[in-house]
Amino acid sequence: MISQEILENEGRFEVDVKYRMPLQGSYSTGLWYCPECGYNNMREHSPRTIIGFAEDQHGRNVRIHRCGKCFELYYHHTTKDVYDMFLIYKEEVNNAEN
Ligand SMILES: [Zn+2]
Repeated sequence: MISQEILENEGRFEVDVKYRMPLQGSYSTGLWYCPECGYNNMREHSPRTIIGFAEDQHGRNVRIHRCGKCFELYYHHTTKDVYDMFLIYKEEVNNAEN
C-alpha cells in the first residue's frame, strides 16, 4: 500500500516558472478523464492536453488540462514522471517549430 507520505511527496517538485499558472477548472477524480464530458484525454497523447501546472491548497502540484473534446479546463494531482513527460513533449514541439 502506498503511504500518504509518498503520495504527498510525489506532488512536490520544482516546476519551471514558465509552466506555472493559477489553479483553475474543476477537479477530476478520474485521472485523465474530463469531469465535464467524461472524455479520456489519454487518447490525445496525454501531454498535449496539459496547459500548465499549479499548486492546490495543500501546496501539491496539479496538472491543468484543456479537454481535447469539450475544451473545458480541469486539473488532477500529478507526479514528477508526468511533468518530465510534459517537458519532453514541449521540447519536441519547440524543435518541430524551429
Ligand atoms: Zn471534456
